[in-house]
Amino acid sequence: MSDPLKLAAMQIIASVCTPTYFTQPQLWQMMVFQKVQLSVKYGNAPGSPFGYADYGMVLCGTESNFEKGYQFAQLASTLLSQLQAREFVPKTLLLINIYLRHWREHLRTTLNPLVEAYERGLETGDLEYATFAIAFHSYHSYLVGRELTELEQEMATYGAAIAQFKQAVPLYLNQIYRQAVLNLMGRSPDPCRLVGESYNEVERLPQLQTDHDQYALFQIHLNKLILYYLFADYPQAVEQAMAAEQLLLAGATGMLVVPVFYFYNCLAQLAHFSQVAKAEQQRILKTVSENQKRIKAWANQAPMNYLHQYHLVTAERFRVSGQSADAVEHYDQAIALAKQHDYLHEEALANELAAAFYLQNGKTKVAQLYLQDARYCYGRWGATAKVKDLETRYAHLIDLQSKRDGTPSRETLSTSLTTTGSTETSAFDLAAVMRAAQVLSSEIVLERLLAMLMKLLIENAGADKGCLILETGGKLLIEAEGSVHSDPITLLDSIPLEDSDGISRVSMAIINYVAHTRESLVVNDATQDSKFAKDPYFLNHQPQSVLCTPLVNQGKLTGIVYLENTLTTDAFTSDRLEVIQLLSTQAAISIDNARLYDQLELRVQERTTELTQVNQQLEQLTTELQRSNQELEQFAYIASHDLQEPLRTITSYTQKLAQRYQGQLDEKADLYIGFAVDGATRMQQLIQDLLTYSRVGRQKLKPEPTDCNIVVNKVLRDLRVAITENQANITVAPLPTLEVDPTQLSLLFQNLIGNAIKYHSEAAPQVHISAIEQGQDTKYWHFSIRDNGIGIEPQYVERIFTIFQRLHTSDEYPGTGLGLAISKKIVENHEGRIWVESQLGQGSTFYFELPSMPS
Ligand code: ADP
Repeated sequence: MSDPLKLAAMQIIASVCTPTYFTQPQLWQMMVFQKVQLSVKYGNAPGSPFGYADYGMVLCGTESNFEKGYQFAQLASTLLSQLQAREFVPKTLLLINIYLRHWREHLRTTLNPLVEAYERGLETGDLEYATFAIAFHSYHSYLVGRELTELEQEMATYGAAIAQFKQAVPLYLNQIYRQAVLNLMGRSPDPCRLVGESYNEVERLPQLQTDHDQYALFQIHLNKLILYYLFADYPQAVEQAMAAEQLLLAGATGMLVVPVFYFYNCLAQLAHFSQVAKAEQQRILKTVSENQKRIKAWANQAPMNYLHQYHLVTAERFRVSGQSADAVEHYDQAIALAKQHDYLHEEALANELAAAFYLQNGKTKVAQLYLQDARYCYGRWGATAKVKDLETRYAHLIDLQSKRDGTPSRETLSTSLTTTGSTETSAFDLAAVMRAAQVLSSEIVLERLLAMLMKLLIENAGADKGCLILETGGKLLIEAEGSVHSDPITLLDSIPLEDSDGISRVSMAIINYVAHTRESLVVNDATQDSKFAKDPYFLNHQPQSVLCTPLVNQGKLTGIVYLENTLTTDAFTSDRLEVIQLLSTQAAISIDNARLYDQLELRVQERTTELTQVNQQLEQLTTELQRSNQELEQFAYIASHDLQEPLRTITSYTQKLAQRYQGQLDEKADLYIGFAVDGATRMQQLIQDLLTYSRVGRQKLKPEPTDCNIVVNKVLRDLRVAITENQANITVAPLPTLEVDPTQLSLLFQNLIGNAIKYHSEAAPQVHISAIEQGQDTKYWHFSIRDNGIGIEPQYVERIFTIFQRLHTSDEYPGTGLGLAISKKIVENHEGRIWVESQLGQGSTFYFELPSMPS
């Protein structure tokens, strides 16, 4: 995409999509108008994917042309993948998936792209769109009927992230919807009001009204419409629907909440129908039939999302009009379609409404069947509060069924349960246990696992108090404690079962019994129990029922679950015990895994600390080494430099001695003077070389473009005496010009060519110097200096580059053992490498590589 177009598209985004967009309808309408113009402009040109999505949104939002709107969504998607314009991804994905997709595809298909929009937004720093996307992801998840326990946890996590990014609108969306989920799960004082852990409408409403935050108000009324309707407070539901309808245009156009609103609005009106006057009934029928036309149109476009809703509204309309035969047909269609398209919560609702319809028509048996399915679906959805609501409203139907099936009646179940217990049948228990076991097995961090486990145990057992005891180093210690009265669960720092005064925190008699027998124990009426009634803990705390079960994994006692009910006797029925035992088996495995993980983490930590220490020591050693190396070099330099002067004196005087007194003294004296002259000369050479070695290491490189041909010619001139004396034949192929220090390069050639001549065999030395350029991306020159000399045994080819390493005595070949060490330093100074290939008696080839000049 060309830059001006990109810029224009960015400007549209910036001007149109601000948070006010969702809260101020007039502004929004004006912007929509503007957007239509701009989107048409860029929609027709190969413009922004966002423009396409935007234009599609407007078309769908006005309900005028779904087909076209959806085409724009597809265009936007294609363009997005072609352009790879990262900054457009969150915005475009958000628009496509909240405004366009659900009109044509299953709502579930929007979930992954919304998570992607969130993740991409975080990557590009587009926090506003990222958080909007994830808030919409949560409410789409809720409205598509995802399992509530899992969804609630997910919403809490995302909510914390949104709060951290300080995004106000996505945050309240998340909080409102999460509260609705919590209400359905039975985790709020009143299932219909949005007051609880996540949101408090009582505190927030006044401010929202003052701010005219119509979008937030709409969301609150919509959620309350659904909740009041589900919990059968129809007058309130209708009131909420009216309030929501007035706000419907406040930014919700085109979104999923539109069909959701019409669906529940119709249902609420029809549920309220029998309570209102004739005239009002006429109005309701008229409104519903108008709304039905809308729902039908949506169902034509996206049957997987809206057809079951259409049938359910139709069934209810037939019910109130007394057309029973038609109603039957539509209830069943609604149930079948909801099931087919995986709308679990609406399958539950359709079953519930069908049950009510049959009951109203005196068909109790049929009603029971539908009710059973409704309870089952709500249970699987995770809507515990709704299951309880059914059990309260249809207690009679459920009792009848129990008598017939021989399953425990609702009453017998209820008496065995406490305040927290629910009255689900074993089918629900199984679903709950499966969910809980799944949650447990996925947790690997011990602390979180213990808290979660404690909570699950108290919730599922019908206990009002409990603790989790783990075995550590042969001792039983309390690790977590919980009570229905105090949320959250307290994690303890491994406290003993008895305090310092010897007063026990749990019944020691029971704990010892369970630890010893490794069998579960239920005390139904503690005050009457002969074995435990005298236990000091029982006397002090007087629990009514106690359940204690061991956690055993691979035959080993991992811990003990201790649960109490302080109010009710017989609180822990055999059903409950079964559930707890099932959970405990999973818990024991999970605890062992989490402990292993903990140990592993600890070990990793220890290893990391050790490694860090070793690294620090290494660094220290390297620094020390570098310093002592520097000192050594300094010393070598100073020593050689200072030695030079006295040595020069010795050399010149011994030479003078030799010249003047040769033949005048006796033979021995001549020999001794000869040794002295020789030794002094050699020492002078050695000191010269040492100085050069230390200079090459210390002096700064002075690289400049250097013609190697010139350098080699000069070296050959300097070596002409040795060449002539040895009758050497030196050939040189054309050499390159390189960015190097010419003095050092000259020294390098001098050493290598000098050695090639010096270490000759019996034959006259033949030396060839050449270079070729090599390398793909990084080019370098590969030099070779080949001779036909004595060669080197393979085991020495590396050693000879080390300082003072010589393979011959000075008598055989004069030298100091420094030439190659100097050469290596020079090559490495130029970021190159040097090596030799040779066989004894076969001649040697010295190679070195130097970087090419940048072209
Ligand atoms: P020096 O020549 O002063 O002894 P060098 O560091 O230049 O020191 O060489 C180290 C040793 O490597 C030499 O003593 C010699 O044994 C071996 N050497 C170097 N160049 C050659 C060559 N071209 N052929 C055979 N041996 C060589």
